[in-house]
Amino acid sequence: EQSKVYNFCAGPAMLPASVMQKAQAEFLDWQGTGRSVMELSHRSKEYIALAEQAEQDFRDLLSIPSNYKVLFAQGGGRGQFSAVPMNLQGRGKCADFLLTGSWSNGAEQEAQKFLATNVVSDVVSKEGLTAVPDIDPSMMSANSAYFHYCTNETVDGIEIDDIPDSGDVPLVADMSSNILSKPIDVSKFGIIYAGAQKNIGPSGLAVVIVRDDLLDSAMPEVPTFLHYKTMDKFDSMYNTPPTYSWYLAGLVFKWLKEQGGLTAIAKKNAEKAALLYRCIDQTPFYINKVHPDFRSKMNVTFHLPSDELEAKFLVEAESRGLMALKGHRIVGGMRASIYNAMPIEGVITLTDFMRDFARRNG
Ligand code: PMP
Repeated sequence: EQSKVYNFCAGPAMLPASVMQKAQAEFLDWQGTGRSVMELSHRSKEYIALAEQAEQDFRDLLSIPSNYKVLFAQGGGRGQFSAVPMNLQGRGKCADFLLTGSWSNGAEQEAQKFLATNVVSDVVSKEGLTAVPDIDPSMMSANSAYFHYCTNETVDGIEIDDIPDSGDVPLVADMSSNILSKPIDVSKFGIIYAGAQKNIGPSGLAVVIVRDDLLDSAMPEVPTFLHYKTMDKFDSMYNTPPTYSWYLAGLVFKWLKEQGGLTAIAKKNAEKAALLYRCIDQTPFYINKVHPDFRSKMNVTFHLPSDELEAKFLVEAESRGLMALKGHRIVGGMRASIYNAMPIEGVITLTDFMRDFARRNG
């Protein structure tokens, strides 16, 4: 009989159990208001206090310098695929892109609607494995509005730890699937954005960190609710924000602080990923083709020897409470997403199952 479920979904992903319990406990009556937090006006003093506290906790976690604004936006990660080029187009008619997988490609495709795009580099093969090359400055365009890359390719399982050097050109990063998984030096970036539904909270929200000199370079046609300057002026409440997602994000930030912040969670994340990659490397039955320097600590991808075995693996895994391990449809195989909320016990249960399955089917 199944007692416990571990959810390896890439997003919307599992949330910490204690966060869900707190949300449940105060679902009908938030802090004595006699109402659910989702029934409060976003302009009420209670809600504004909640929103400000969530922003402060987020700032504390990432040590965000004071010359950066934090925006709570609608439209998820893809909303920012459009918002970034529209908001920076006034700086130049071209932008540079590092392409490392499905999501950086998606961002580049969308940006083409608003400006010319220049591909600085694609992934390369290193010792037969997928790797990200160093940036060749001669590949960057003159008068680029920004340089865009994705710090963690959720579909492909590729993570870039080193921050590329884009010189004076503002660096823009899609951190949807690894934000808050480790400390980062925010001062190296012009804009950081992330859809919420992995390490932040439920979907419906994107968090955007914008250096203040980049707030006001938008093309005139930018929709007002995506305009960073307007968003900032109205404290992310130009239109009604996704209040419940914002609230839950606030609970997740508090939880992360209780865990010891990002240095502590990074250590746990590294341990979890090491366990899983060790299992893959020690069992020839499982294959991961990402170069060790670029293996994602959030989305661990692997293949089995055949489609039939992969189908069987998924059925057996689910019967043991190991859920949502199917890889993204465009790459196939398996994917274990092990964001902040995944306890190490989940990874141990998975690797025990993987070794056992390989023994029985190898
Ligand atoms: N960027 C990355 C890295 C992602 O993983 C995702 C979603 N999985 C997106 C962008 C798109 O996010 P959304 O579905 O919220 O638009």
